[in-house]
Amino acid sequence: MVDADQTFVIVGGGLAGAKAAETLRTEGFTGRVILICDERDHPYERPPLSKGYLLGKEERDSVFVHEPAWYARHDIELHLGQTVVAIDRAARTVHYGDDGTHVRYDKLLIATGAEPRRLDVPGTDLAGVHHLRRLAHAERLKGVLGSLGRDNGHLVVAGAGWIGLEVAAAAREYGAEVTVIEPAPTPLHGVLGPELGSVFAELHEARGVRFRFGVKLTEIVGQDGMVLAARTDDGEEHPAHDVLAAIGAAPRTALAQAAGLEIADRAVGGGIVVDANLRTSDPDIYAAGDVASFHHALFDTRLRVEHWANALNGGPAAARAMLGKGLAHDRVPYFFTDQYDLGMEYSGWAPAGSYDQVVIRGDAAKREFIAFWVKEGRVLAGMNVNVWDVTEPIQQLIRSKTRVDTEALANPHVSLESLVA
Ligand SMILES: Cc1cc2nc3c(=O)[nH]c(=O)nc-3n(C[C@H](O)[C@H](O)[C@H](O)COP(=O)(O)OP(=O)(O)OC[C@H]3O[C@@H](n4cnc5c(N)ncnc54)[C@H](O)[C@@H]3O)c2cc1C
Repeated sequence: MVDADQTFVIVGGGLAGAKAAETLRTEGFTGRVILICDERDHPYERPPLSKGYLLGKEERDSVFVHEPAWYARHDIELHLGQTVVAIDRAARTVHYGDDGTHVRYDKLLIATGAEPRRLDVPGTDLAGVHHLRRLAHAERLKGVLGSLGRDNGHLVVAGAGWIGLEVAAAAREYGAEVTVIEPAPTPLHGVLGPELGSVFAELHEARGVRFRFGVKLTEIVGQDGMVLAARTDDGEEHPAHDVLAAIGAAPRTALAQAAGLEIADRAVGGGIVVDANLRTSDPDIYAAGDVASFHHALFDTRLRVEHWANALNGGPAAARAMLGKGLAHDRVPYFFTDQYDLGMEYSGWAPAGSYDQVVIRGDAAKREFIAFWVKEGRVLAGMNVNVWDVTEPIQQLIRSKTRVDTEALANPHVSLESLVA
């Protein structure tokens, strides 16, 4: 039974943490809610940092989850700019800041997110090497792209994943020269496989981005602290004034690990192990968002999902579980991207080897289509590119595990709804 004397602490003020705090209040929790975050900004959403905000099309104010006054109005105690340094499970305390401040919790949510992986090559300490995770990074990068555009400068992007491609698109819109270096044979190879990665390669090449596939960055060459070039393992040197390292993110599990919570193997993406209710190996501690590794009942596998929708829904799911109202967190994974005039949504989960066919409905060459990853006639994942309002039927197809006629699936004149059993 939850009562007004209880204290729920949330570590991490990203989308998952902020949405969890909101849900505790909307579900009627009257105890203390304390949210501690090492960033000084109020909780914000990260997708605009590589899109509208980076391009100067969205205002800074638009990225925040709630306006600053919302927290006091809902009696959420915010401790910004404070790093949690330890969780003492025996004493049920969270320790933060430099002066040993601690607070006792009845229930704790860890929503510490992820951090950019660092390049492990000479030259990464040069001033022109960037990462993109935080508002401050986006602000800096915005300035950099602006001056590269004005001076015809060169940006080298290490990694053709979502963030690398979105920044490449933004850089081209600013007028910068862009080279993307990617060890895999196509962009987004791990997520989309070889069939669909080429759609993104062609999109960018048509806008003047140069790709170097199948090579690794070996050195960032500099002089007097400035970036001059990026060297790859085929011996080539690519001119660069700035380099963006966009080689993925690692879950911030150090705190949980030091507290003795179970951590998932790196082979399955790492992260804090939680059950379907987002509860960790300690029954009073929960984890949500990028840092949580949960068993997904639909795909019968352990997943760590680094996407906006998982933080948006996972924070509230954890909050409800903390209140004893938990339901399984089994939403179909979903994410989106915007690059130039291409908008895309992806639902499902279809890693390499899990599907036997990719079915295209529409015109891939015109970049107006839906791709389905199918195994024995069952849809595992669907990606709609410049086609809208189809997420619901795509997710129904995935969820229902209906065996579909792939010719009908490819036929735009057959409604997707009619294919769901
Ligand atoms: C540039 C960018 C663009 C993206 N675009 C998309 C997109 O288009 N579509 C999509 O689906 N997803 C996108 N994502 C992913 C999405 O933003 C993340 O999945 C989401 O931010 C995860 O939220 P979270 O709350 O779990 O973690 P985070 O947002 O990382 O928040 C965690 C917070 O906890 C803080 N913290 C960590 N450790 C401590 C500690 N010890 N003490 C105190 N505070 C701590 C962190 O500093 C951070 O503020 C993007 C991500 C980035 C970086």
